[in-house]
Amino acid sequence: MFRALPRVPDHPAIELEILGWWEENATFEKLREQNRGGPVWSFVDGPVTANRMVLGVHTAWGRTLKDVFQRYKALRGYHQRYQNGFDCQGLWIEVGVERELGLNSKREIEEYGLAEFARRCREVVVRSSTALTEGSIRLGQWMNWGSDYFTFSDTNIEYIWRFLKLVNERGWLDLGHRSTEWCPRCGTSLSQHELTQAGVYQERTDPSLYVRFPLRERPGESVVVWTTTPWTLPANVAAAVKLDAEYGLRENGEWVAVARYPDEAFVRRVPGAELVGLHYEGPFDDLGPGGEVDHQVIPWDEVSLEEGTGIVHIATGAGQEDFELGRLHGLPVLSPVDEAGRFYDSYGWLHGLSTAEAADQIVGQLAEKGVLLEAGVYLHRYPHCWRCDTPLIWRVTDDWLISVADLRPSLLDANATVAWTPAYMGKRMDDWLRNMGDWNISRRRYYGLPLPFYPCSCGYLNVIGSRAELEERALGGLEQLEELRRPWIDAVLIRCADCGEPVERIAEVGDVWLDAGIVPFSTLGWENPQPVPQGYATGAAKGLTDADLPDHAYWERWFPADWVSEMREQIRLWFYSQLFMSVVLTGRAPFRSVLGYEKMLDERGREMHSSWGNTIDAPDAFARIGADIMRWQFCAQPPDRNLLFGYGPAKEIKKKLLTLWNSVRFLVDYGNIGSFTPSFADLDAPPLDDGSRPLDRWLVSRTQKYLAEATQALEDQLTHKLIESFEAFVDDLSNWYIRRSRGRFWDGDAAALRVLWHALVQGIRGIAPVMPFLAEHLWQILVAGVCEDAPESVFLAGWPAAGDPDEALLEEIGEVRAIVALGHRARGAGAIKLRQPLRALVVEGAVRAAGHADEIAGELRVKSVAFEPIAGATVSARPNLKMLGPKLGAALPRLREALAEGRFERLPDGRVRAEGHELQPEEVFVERVAPDGWTLSEEGALSVALDVRLDPELELEGRVIDLVHAVNTLRKEQGLEITDRIVLTVPDGGDLRRFEDWIKAETLAVEIEHGPELAVRKAHSL
Ligand SMILES: [Zn+2]
Ligand SMILES: [Zn+2]
Repeated sequence: MFRALPRVPDHPAIELEILGWWEENATFEKLREQNRGGPVWSFVDGPVTANRMVLGVHTAWGRTLKDVFQRYKALRGYHQRYQNGFDCQGLWIEVGVERELGLNSKREIEEYGLAEFARRCREVVVRSSTALTEGSIRLGQWMNWGSDYFTFSDTNIEYIWRFLKLVNERGWLDLGHRSTEWCPRCGTSLSQHELTQAGVYQERTDPSLYVRFPLRERPGESVVVWTTTPWTLPANVAAAVKLDAEYGLRENGEWVAVARYPDEAFVRRVPGAELVGLHYEGPFDDLGPGGEVDHQVIPWDEVSLEEGTGIVHIATGAGQEDFELGRLHGLPVLSPVDEAGRFYDSYGWLHGLSTAEAADQIVGQLAEKGVLLEAGVYLHRYPHCWRCDTPLIWRVTDDWLISVADLRPSLLDANATVAWTPAYMGKRMDDWLRNMGDWNISRRRYYGLPLPFYPCSCGYLNVIGSRAELEERALGGLEQLEELRRPWIDAVLIRCADCGEPVERIAEVGDVWLDAGIVPFSTLGWENPQPVPQGYATGAAKGLTDADLPDHAYWERWFPADWVSEMREQIRLWFYSQLFMSVVLTGRAPFRSVLGYEKMLDERGREMHSSWGNTIDAPDAFARIGADIMRWQFCAQPPDRNLLFGYGPAKEIKKKLLTLWNSVRFLVDYGNIGSFTPSFADLDAPPLDDGSRPLDRWLVSRTQKYLAEATQALEDQLTHKLIESFEAFVDDLSNWYIRRSRGRFWDGDAAALRVLWHALVQGIRGIAPVMPFLAEHLWQILVAGVCEDAPESVFLAGWPAAGDPDEALLEEIGEVRAIVALGHRARGAGAIKLRQPLRALVVEGAVRAAGHADEIAGELRVKSVAFEPIAGATVSARPNLKMLGPKLGAALPRLREALAEGRFERLPDGRVRAEGHELQPEEVFVERVAPDGWTLSEEGALSVALDVRLDPELELEGRVIDLVHAVNTLRKEQGLEITDRIVLTVPDGGDLRRFEDWIKAETLAVEIEHGPELAVRKAHSL
């Protein structure tokens, strides 16, 4: 006996039950054990940042995809690692802790104490990783929880040190002096790839100022510049013009580019070259270092004639292009603001003001000096800090950089070996690799990888490559070295390898993408001579994981990853940093294939923001809709489009799943009535024999075809194709096989039950990676609970073999279903409801369906089905006036008449000949019209004609069928079991009596009484 199913599934309840069952039965451990000797499939998890205290649905999306493919590969017998990873350092963590502690600047962090600050950061990681693990388990993700990698482990840090040492040995490490984007709140520069993250560029309104710089050699004349960053004016050193552009002098002495003001009447016009070399009074020569600058007009090819005045204000210390231009011309560099973006004290009354605070005062001063022409506002896209949302500024700083020029060709070659899905993402990586600049790896922060750089005053750069090397060269401080981390590491000085003097480490920490990029080496034991049990659980990771540090042989086995998968954004982040580090260390790509996917938005297509109240936490969704529904929604999404996630779409999915649920319930109910016991062996060999009916053969083939499609979809990493295929399969199974076989199930037909069971179980196995809970639940009911020799879990049963579907049979039934669909359309055209029996259907053009006349007749409720040419149909044709009007002009009316009167000929190629014209198919609308009393519908080569004429006999039958339908609805409403016999009361209609036996059979009535109203009551068993 199957366990009975409720009318609708309670997904969250089923899922909690299955989670408990998996745990109790150690199902995942059994699966891993079962696959231990199998082929290796290597997946490397991209670490999730451990800073959120709850799993978000966007993270759940990626985790679902990871789980789907790991489960699929496990079903195919692949041995896997299942190591989850957490990203544990960097600004995400720091800024969160700052907020918690109410700290607002780097100074306050230092006052709080770096050791305490580091401990607080670690606590966040501990709390967050616990919460994320809980959420992921609830999502159904099978990972080796407890053996996770944490990027703040000393082992991870040492691996990055080793990488950096190698980079230095190859001459790729530079201390760059350049202008970079800078977050004044975080007090650090950011790298190019950080600026590519979502949300960095935001619309913002800034001041728009037109300012006059008076020319020293030309009293009364001045050049006019435009700027949206007033704070950079005190750092002005030059004004740039385009040599070959034309500049005009206004009557009031102002010089601007003519192209910007084409309608103005200028008193003089000169090429830009004539202005070059002139000197001018700087806007703030009275203030700080500006006064010492010899302000000049300089040439620059890049001067834009699209905006501003065509004369550009150059502040070498406050803009990237300005800085490069300054290098070219040997201009001085004025750096007006400190790390926190506040003016240095050399800037007099501006001292201590932030760049934003200074704007108003600067504008006021310019006005007072009489050099401000115009002050307005300007809306533009401006970069913000990806972590704290502060508008960025530019500062000239010394940053550590890895030079990419030498590496670029190898990076491109390595990327060419990777299979990207969708393919355009690989192209994006290519574009990035071609265009990216040097990698800025240093951040002036605290909780991060300590860069192992010890520059000595003798000029030698010491780079430490391991903890052992540090210990060997340390001059002291080792006893307090809790972790390879600030502040402890800063207290360890080393001896310079060149001159022997003591050297300090630089204060900077590393870009977090170093932490994540090293993972395919640090977690797999690259160049590690001996495996070290729990050897990854070092430093801050101690006590959080039992991850081992494997040896090099293990790395050889698991590297490169067969597959990685993350959001598209990671192209320039994790995918890039991994590729970069891997090419440096091995010359190879670290992954063979990548599945990327686009962004998640809310169900109305808006970004999800907690301040907009439209974010969804995964635990909330688990409770409301269940994990399976979420996973379905994630998997139904083509990866090249944004996912619109929400509870609205979830409702639709629940509805679709009911078709599957109802089909299973149908099997369970009738199987139990018919004492059906399935045989597990039926899943290996199709449950057919020589005498099997065509419909049964068809369902087996249909199942095989679905399994072949499911397999292909998963091999292609396209989960949405799997979902499409599953939906079509369930539709065929329910709306064709079950519908057409109802009578057999009522009779307890063993062959029908057997074939349906086979199809449902295989169907569930194919979708199990997507909906592990529902699949496991139904496996328990349909298989494990009733077949003695069955594996206890669907995930221990392997991936079902597709077998060889009978393609001809599939096409045959495909044609039958097409005929039925046309028949329904023809019924619709005659406005005849489905329950009304009709006399005849004629099918023309069918190739394979002739053996299925009975099914077609039953499905369409017609008394006869004939396969023959449709007699008496006429062909009508109308001209396409839009096309033929202009073409034929005055000849059109005659053609129209000919077509209307049927004086035309259809040519075999679809063209029409009439009135001496040969018309293209698109120039005439040709339509077949059924004879009177019939309707006709056609599609391709298939046409059906339906006799829609009613007679009293047909009308009466229609009423009987309506009655049967009404009775069966009443049965359901009264909660009767499908086997319950009833006594039926029918309003007296003498003409129905003839059909009483039929009505009894269709409604399980033992007796029919006559009364005023239709009523049903359960018959007492005899
Ligand atoms: Zn910031
Ligand atoms: Zn030295």
